[in-house]
Amino acid sequence: MDRKKTRQIHIGDVLIGGGAPVSVQSMTNTKTQDTESTVRQIRALADAGCDIVRLAVPDMDAAQNLGNIIKQSPVPLVADIHFDYRLALEAIHQGIAALRLNPGNIGGEENVRKVVTEAKAAGIPIRIGVNGGSLDKKLLAKYGHVTAEALVESAMQHVRILEAQNFYDMKISLKAHDVPLTLEAYRLMSKTVDYPLHLGITEAGTPHTGMIKSAVGIGALLAEGIGDTIRISLTGDPVVEVKVANEILKSLGMKEYGPTLISCPTCGRTAIDLPAIASEVEKRLDGITEPISVAVMGCVVNGPGEAREADVGIAGGKGEGLVFRKGEILRKVSEEDLVSELFKEIDKILEERHA
Ligand code: SF4
Repeated sequence: MDRKKTRQIHIGDVLIGGGAPVSVQSMTNTKTQDTESTVRQIRALADAGCDIVRLAVPDMDAAQNLGNIIKQSPVPLVADIHFDYRLALEAIHQGIAALRLNPGNIGGEENVRKVVTEAKAAGIPIRIGVNGGSLDKKLLAKYGHVTAEALVESAMQHVRILEAQNFYDMKISLKAHDVPLTLEAYRLMSKTVDYPLHLGITEAGTPHTGMIKSAVGIGALLAEGIGDTIRISLTGDPVVEVKVANEILKSLGMKEYGPTLISCPTCGRTAIDLPAIASEVEKRLDGITEPISVAVMGCVVNGPGEAREADVGIAGGKGEGLVFRKGEILRKVSEEDLVSELFKEIDKILEERHA
């Protein structure tokens, strides 16, 4: 896949843009003042394959607690700041790896200058995050409603504020909850600048619809070579966001992470309880972080052949089934032993890799 070559920045030890792998971000939904819960959630996100975590910094208490969290975080952290430049200064002072703010709304030119000077001295980047829902009134009046051009113009106003201070260490996001509008805005932005782009569909919704909207929107852009880092926004547990982000990247062949479960749709040949078996396998695969492809197929006629690319798999028969590796049949076992026999092979494969 040809990806647009963007300028490279780094957030802690994670490279973004310039050909670096597309990184996965998420955001905690704990109170940033609560070190224990926040660190616990950051660890859960990192364990699920999250590269960068963002935290809301709504007030000085939250800003002053960042250092305590940073000390215990396995991944670099980004402080999300609105309106008050002093929170940004405190976050930098606490050792944050990046800031997310809009220089046009943190309190005047003089204050922006202070933040930029400190960010430059600390060597940390700034994400400009333009959101359709909070577009400047003047731009809304100019364009009549939220358009791709309005989002890009808004982002460019913020970009110019930073560039005027010779600050180029930035990335940009343009979020809208409408997928076609998001696609248009990112395409236009990608043509306009070479800063890395942070992709997201904002307020995508509950996990079911949100996953679909995000997969379609973010997937389409990534497939066009646009996007350097992604965040899936879903209502609820952010760990789910990370899992979805990883699945999107895996499905485009852009990341190898954890197991890939292949399961057949079932048909008139299926004679085992395949949906139950597939969900049990999915549950037991949770927690494995190494790439391994596992097939759960309904029949012995087509199963092993259809799933030839899988590292390991099972194919159901009547009251029994086959265990296979790379399309080669290993043995026949009874239906109730299929899952445990499959996991014996999975354990063996993982052991062989480490031998
Ligand atoms: S693997 Fe067998 S049971 Fe599953 S859809 Fe294909 S033919 Fe049908």
